[in-house]
Amino acid sequence: MKELKDLVRPNVWVLKPYSSARDEFHGKASVFLDANENPWNVPYNRYPDPRQARLKERIAKLKGVKADSIFLGNGSDEAIDLIIRAFCEPGADSIVTIAPSYGMYEVAAGVNAVECKEVPLDADFGLDAEVVLAEADDRTKVIFLCSPNNPTGNSLDRGSIYKILRRFEGIVVIDEAYIDFSAYPSLLRELDGFPNLVVLQTLSKAWGAAAIRLGMAFASPEIIAVLDKIKYPYNVSLLTQEKALEILDGEEVMRNRVESILSERERLRYLLINKPFFFKVYPSDANFLLVDVGDATAVYDALLKEGVVVRNRDNVRMCHGCLRITVGSPEENDRLLDALGRVCPPIRLQRIIRLMEEKEDGKEGQA
Ligand SMILES: *Cc1c(COP(=O)(O)O)cnc(C)c1O
Repeated sequence: MKELKDLVRPNVWVLKPYSSARDEFHGKASVFLDANENPWNVPYNRYPDPRQARLKERIAKLKGVKADSIFLGNGSDEAIDLIIRAFCEPGADSIVTIAPSYGMYEVAAGVNAVECKEVPLDADFGLDAEVVLAEADDRTKVIFLCSPNNPTGNSLDRGSIYKILRRFEGIVVIDEAYIDFSAYPSLLRELDGFPNLVVLQTLSKAWGAAAIRLGMAFASPEIIAVLDKIKYPYNVSLLTQEKALEILDGEEVMRNRVESILSERERLRYLLINKPFFFKVYPSDANFLLVDVGDATAVYDALLKEGVVVRNRDNVRMCHGCLRITVGSPEENDRLLDALGRVCPPIRLQRIIRLMEEKEDGKEGQA
């Protein structure tokens, strides 16, 4: 890895962060007249801890990392944006990511006038480290990889990830939003071995708390200090910090729900690949399935009319004909299957008629 100083934008490196009232005060006090708060409406009258110390202690214990290796934000989306803003000079630097993958890397890069270079995955949605490394040049500051990947569902090859971590001299972000559903362990344990590694996780998926907006970035204390410098001082609300502490006490509950989702995922897969559907279902290490249904937009629209909403990925590179279907509760999955059973036969029939008409037209054209 290059020196951190040579990777961080020069203006960010020399930036003196905003120092909030709660940052400047250390120690014990019982009268708080330092932050222009209102004395009434306890406890919501007070600004929350800008460093989220209690929550970080809790997460540190849970994840087996040091508290100073943790950044907390308003969803992992905040961390994605901050990483690009910390390292990439607008109009000059670039990021490299894979395609298809999570759309926020490209959006966050675009907002910051940072070029986003996409490396297509191979036909099995596998990662070719050499192609990714070849795409990165000396203006590429960050490589974003997502594993398990959204929307394809598969985990990326470990060996390829290690190769990129070893050979790329900039920052490598591994987005592990779906790691708790995965058969593979987190890369968190590699944090000490790779100074350029940033691991993203979230409370939005396996922990079932998308509404509270809590994302986590894990990295060296030096990288975390850079992100802390440019975040909004009070970026995680008191409500979120308290609710997160409560939710994280329920690890057992989370594990049970994950188990249920995984067994439902396999039931859904089995039913979708067999009679009467015979769909192609891609291997999934996450809480969703990428399913090739043929006429994706027609199936999507018909499902909507049945009150079932899935994600249409028909227009995404390499996902032509595909829907991304989140694994729900057993009842929700049954409703999906019932609806598919009703909407698919007429759509297939129409497709066959259309193909036959096209064939007829072709013959007339030749005559
Ligand atoms: C859902 C998802 C996230 C989660 O984002 P939050 O802002 O934490 O809710 C991050 N990355 C990927 C790939 C996702 O699919």
